[in-house]
Amino acid sequence: MLAPYAVEVAQSRGRRFPEPPHPYRDDFQRDRDRIIHARAFRRLENKTQVFTKRYSDHFRTRLTHTIEVSQISRTIAQQLNLNTELVEALALAHDMGHPPFGHSGEQALDACMKRHGERFDHNLHSLRIVESFEQRYASFPGLNLTFEVREGIVKHSHDYIAAEFPELSEYLLDQRPPLEAQLIDHTDEIAYNTADLDDGFEAELLTLEQIRSEVGVFARGLDEAERRYPTASPKLKFNEALKRMINRLVGDLITNTAARVREAGIQTIEDVRSHPVRLAGFSPEVDEERREAKHFLYRCLYYSEQLKGQKADGERIVTDLFEHFIARPQALPPSYQSKIEGGETKARTICDYLAGMTDNFILDQHKKLMRKA
Ligand code: MG
Repeated sequence: MLAPYAVEVAQSRGRRFPEPPHPYRDDFQRDRDRIIHARAFRRLENKTQVFTKRYSDHFRTRLTHTIEVSQISRTIAQQLNLNTELVEALALAHDMGHPPFGHSGEQALDACMKRHGERFDHNLHSLRIVESFEQRYASFPGLNLTFEVREGIVKHSHDYIAAEFPELSEYLLDQRPPLEAQLIDHTDEIAYNTADLDDGFEAELLTLEQIRSEVGVFARGLDEAERRYPTASPKLKFNEALKRMINRLVGDLITNTAARVREAGIQTIEDVRSHPVRLAGFSPEVDEERREAKHFLYRCLYYSEQLKGQKADGERIVTDLFEHFIARPQALPPSYQSKIEGGETKARTICDYLAGMTDNFILDQHKKLMRKA
């Protein structure tokens, strides 16, 4: 039974190119399946989340991070009686527009684009992927996803202003997205805040005592784990603490979102959309714990001395290749050259080409092309 303010698939605003219904999958299930079968989705396997492959084969990649976001999102959506099929499609699509080398790749591409008066934005890039780059179906370009999935992609962790982005005007920019889409920002953060502690600890860049002294929600979990399992190994104590941290964040997101919906008197999806602020979120207390964990990770992991080299390498490789192709657009694959002939800017075309690359492919290209140049 869906909540009265959940998105009903029967009420979907539909696809850009109308299609006959499928005999046994609804439209959101089909969207989820189209995303899973997309090339950009498979490439997530070889895109960095935080640690490049040289660290370990069992650290998160952008694909396994995506699967974790999907799992957490489904659990929460089910508890809130939201549309789990829509939530799953949105979770699986939420990082499809990420370039190689995680955030360093993103920052480098954006810096390159700014020098040409343009920007790189991974939400808008995801939209371009599902709208046109994926070529799988003979009767339409892209994946022809429903409005609600495209809207969720656009509104992931960002509010665009209609005056600045007239091309996005169809996405009801003056309204809040449905709760199904609002959830993803928070589940994304639950997933990476906890997973990055895990991988950072495993990589020996973070210690148990360091995390305990700086991340309150983890410290409480660890205290409890030590009381309960005094003889367990540090790694198992760590795991028990992390499990408690995930449960605390997930549980609070469920109860606090439900309470805010109730207190705001939300009855319908229109109420969700016209509410002045997004309703999904943590309680103030847990939000503070979330913020503390996030700031710790920025300070002690993402911007740590140890990861500086990896970050700088990623930025340099992206920038080198961008400049290489700006100077030699004739070296681009023919399909990209024809985009420039078709009126796309050189910078945007090169940005699209580089953003689509996996870590392996861009490293390979860099080695080959930079040696020649
Ligand atoms: Mg993510």
